[in-house]
Amino acid sequence: MTLYNPWRGCHKISEGCKNCYIHSADSRKGIDTNCIVKTEQFDRLVRRNKKGEYVMKSNQLVYLCFSSDFLIEEADVWRDEVWAMIKERSDLRFLFLTKRIHRFKSVCPTDFEENYQHVMVGCSVENQSEADKRLPIFISLPIKHKFIICQPLIGPIQLNKYLNADIVQVTVGGEAGKLARDLDYDWVLSIRDECIKHQVNFEFRQVGSYMIKDHVRYSIPRNQLSSQARKANINVYFKEEE
Ligand code: SF4
Repeated sequence: MTLYNPWRGCHKISEGCKNCYIHSADSRKGIDTNCIVKTEQFDRLVRRNKKGEYVMKSNQLVYLCFSSDFLIEEADVWRDEVWAMIKERSDLRFLFLTKRIHRFKSVCPTDFEENYQHVMVGCSVENQSEADKRLPIFISLPIKHKFIICQPLIGPIQLNKYLNADIVQVTVGGEAGKLARDLDYDWVLSIRDECIKHQVNFEFRQVGSYMIKDHVRYSIPRNQLSSQARKANINVYFKEEE
């Protein structure tokens, strides 16, 4: 597994972005996240060593654009080059998450369906209104491996009508940090029930910094967010990723 960030920076687009960790981390370093810039690793996917071999080893999962949104407008001028590199590196698997799925059709390659089956896409939704805006678009797209990411989950969501056969997994997580919004454990269990009904993988990635369970509000230290979710032991898997 490796990270590949051809550009960095992002704009807040919806409620889920309110406490975006990229904006928070950048502001501590005095970086303006709203300025979208190409990075030095832009061509890293196709760099070769002296023997002519790719520097980035084959057969691994590449997390694409985890310090931005791969579909952000400012990167339109650079994205075709990245698509071409991704096509060349069919020996890798790629995953990107986006809150801008409405842009996918206009910025994806015309041969996406044929030549980009090694690209997995996660559509992020934080509440019902964003789910109802983004998921009808998402489920209509010719993407082979689709993930729904409900993190940070900031309200109850009903996913039933979107859990078709193309959806590999739903991932749920709470928000982290002092300003985090509450995560109600009932919301998590309700999404899990829907996943089980539709035989879609369900993963509880992290609890929230503030968590409501059985009407009691808990405050959880940041270093325990993932381990507490694992302790809940509620992940369910029906499908292989590929
Ligand atoms: S889309 Fe993602 S990266 Fe961009 S501001 Fe929102 S949460 Fe942050």
